[in-house]
Amino acid sequence: MDNRWNLDALYTGFDSPEFIGDCKKLDSKNEEYENFANTLSQSGDILEILKKYVALKSEISALTEKLLCFANLSFCADTNNAKANSYIELISIRQNRSSLADVKFIKWLTSSGFEPKTLRGTDLEECIFHFEELITKGRHILDDQTEQIISNLKLVGSSSWMNLHNVLIGSLTGKISTVDGRIEIKPISQIRAMAYSEDADVRKKAYEAEIRAYRKVEKAVAACINSIKGESIILARMRGYASPLEMVLTKNRMEKSIIDTMFSAIREYLPCFRAYYKKKAKMLGLSGSLPFYDIFAPVTAKAQSNFTYEEAAKFIVEKFSTFSRKLGDFAKNAFDNNWIDSEIRPGKVGGAFCENLFSISQSRILANFGSSYNDVTTIAHELGHAFHGHCLSNNVILNTGYPSPLAETASIFCETIINKAALKEADKESALAILESAISSAGQVIVDIYSRYLFETALFKAREVAPLSPEQLCEEMTKAQIESYGDGLDENVLHPYLWLIKPHYYNPDWNFYNFPYAFGLLFAKGLYAKYTETGSSFAEKYEFLLSETGKRSVTDVAKIVDVDLNDINFWKNSLELIKEDISKFLDL
Ligand SMILES: [Zn+2]
Repeated sequence: MDNRWNLDALYTGFDSPEFIGDCKKLDSKNEEYENFANTLSQSGDILEILKKYVALKSEISALTEKLLCFANLSFCADTNNAKANSYIELISIRQNRSSLADVKFIKWLTSSGFEPKTLRGTDLEECIFHFEELITKGRHILDDQTEQIISNLKLVGSSSWMNLHNVLIGSLTGKISTVDGRIEIKPISQIRAMAYSEDADVRKKAYEAEIRAYRKVEKAVAACINSIKGESIILARMRGYASPLEMVLTKNRMEKSIIDTMFSAIREYLPCFRAYYKKKAKMLGLSGSLPFYDIFAPVTAKAQSNFTYEEAAKFIVEKFSTFSRKLGDFAKNAFDNNWIDSEIRPGKVGGAFCENLFSISQSRILANFGSSYNDVTTIAHELGHAFHGHCLSNNVILNTGYPSPLAETASIFCETIINKAALKEADKESALAILESAISSAGQVIVDIYSRYLFETALFKAREVAPLSPEQLCEEMTKAQIESYGDGLDENVLHPYLWLIKPHYYNPDWNFYNFPYAFGLLFAKGLYAKYTETGSSFAEKYEFLLSETGKRSVTDVAKIVDVDLNDINFWKNSLELIKEDISKFLDL
């Protein structure tokens, strides 16, 4: 077992004959696809046309994925790799080229009046959902010229505003006084990281420095958010959606009633989270309620540390195997065959991610493994993503894309397996640390996300009428936080500028990228609750569910395990699990 990944299964290098050959092959397939899209007509055998589309599209997707992932993974492992960097761009350009042909095909399909259900019993039966989705998408595509204008103007519109936001935040610094009284200028990201400091004074000073820094750019950033959301409102209207939210929900294959039900359940459980924040204030020795800057304050000793990478691997494989042999074997295979780059080294990107490589039915995971318990759960989380990919891999590649609310199902499920097992074996102190870390992150995903959803809803409503001033944006954010955190936090020390710093609000293609987090956590927890009820026979159903996430609506995916997402009790059961953790924490 190595602590660096091996990418040979993709390519042995950028100069290898296979890599060069596949680049050429992608070019010729793209050309073939363009010709195909340009010569579509309403006459001819539709089944043959669709077969040709599936074949071409599958080949192009697999080739693009293989080439792009090789470049991207090589770059992430060594950001000084200039060749990797330039190939990322070169292949992305090719990807863009084929998306123009996609639009032509979608429009042809939509206007053909074709009923995907008629594919039942044919070789293309498994693509029914894919075609249905394309037709829905097609109904919202405008004429060629308008689409061209939109895509050109987006580059100098919302995309530029997003870039400006990146530049403003990336170069933003704050002034903070050190212990010996000097004033230091630090990047905003470093100041934000001080929220985790053990020193109460550092946390408070960092928060104050952060707020001061935001005031310097608030007018410019407000212009960014107003323009980006304004563009979304215009586009949603032009494309015939009732609202930007409806546009997001369609993309996410779900109905609004699901998030309404989920948030109704969440509202009922907010008092539990508030009790946790109150307890945290007490543990920190505060007489009043918790200020925003103490949300991430450490209140427990660190969970039992010092896992070697080998020990982490052994622990994960062992615990995964208690759920299903398949999951355990899968993880073992990933460790044994060097799918994971866990080493911390200069030049490598930070954080952790998983890349599923459907073209070769494998995955690669990047992590920066220290030795803490958190590092172990991070690997387990990413292995969950990889297992999701594994379950999907028996589908045609067109059926491997799943919507964001389902993206974290397998990862959080795997994390839960590890957390439950670790809690069982932990002494009192470690148990407290594990619980606190789980509750604290659930608090972010439930309580904070709820406030961000409320804020974005209010923002869109107000933006329909006119742009918002920085003061109005701060006011809406504060209102949303009061509604969500309630008396859990000190309402005089909230974070009115979260709208300015959360990157999600600035990606024009990611409106409402908040509810998917809450959905992901609660859906995974709900599945785990089903598993504890049903026992080991659940594993097979669960794996089948994962394998279907690319070709059903979210509602229909949930039905596989007899879950009705419009039933508030499903969400309440998930929240009940977090409530149990909170009660344990309050008792310990
Ligand atoms: Zn994840």
